Formats: sequence, structure tokens, C-alpha cells
Amino acid sequence: MTRTCAKPGCDRAAVATLAYAYAEGVVWLEDLAPEAHPMVHDMCRMHADTVRVPMGWELRDVRDQGHGGPARLDLIGA
Ligand SMILES: [Zn+2]
Repeated sequence: MTRTCAKPGCDRAAVATLAYAYAEGVVWLEDLAPEAHPMVHDMCRMHADTVRVPMGWELRDVRDQGHGGPARLDLIGA
């Protein structure tokens, strides 16, 4: 299954997943999650690299850094 970028008008293949942890004011940018989830947004590389977070939010880019841990979706109560 191929997923595409969630940005309107963008049909590139998704390579990253953007997750908003509202309680913490943190936006997680991760390697593409194995399954689509309503709380996250799939992003192509271009849009993942140029993502902007709302004022006062913190962006944590944890893509492909070798931690090998599970996705952090648990932090958003998913
Ligand atoms: Zn895109």
C-alpha cells in the first residue's frame, strides 16, 4: 500500500509521519508510521523537511536516527 502526502495538491509518496501532541505542544516528525492513523499526517520528504509548527510549539524531528524504538504515537493517546 502506498500512501501519499497529506498536503493538499501534493501527490508525492509519503516518507514521514507528522503527529501533534496537543497536551505537550510538540510536533513529532517521524519515519513513516506503518499504518495510517487519523491523528497523524503523512508527509512527503519535501513537505516533511519544510514543515512549520504553530507558534509556541516545538518540532522534534526523530526521523531515521537509529534509535529503533517504536513510534511515539502513545504520547498522543492514540
Ligand atoms: Zn507533500
